[in-house]
Amino acid sequence: MMKCPICHRPTTYEANPYRPFCSERCKLIDFGAWANEEYAVPAEEKPPHPEDSPQGTDTPEEESDRV
Ligand SMILES: [Zn+2]
Repeated sequence: MMKCPICHRPTTYEANPYRPFCSERCKLIDFGAWANEEYAVPAEEKPPHPEDSPQGTDTPEEESDRV
């Protein structure tokens, strides 16, 4: 005997096609949960500075004071 990780109701591994969940509903809930996590990962791993453009090193303006 064990507890469903979703609703924490007592369930069992034996004769349970949805183990370790108590029902198909909880199984789908768990699937949706980690699916959402999966989608959230790439969004959080976006570069923190979107204004960082690749150009900007080809204009040495500091050398323009030798007039
Ligand atoms: Zn459950």
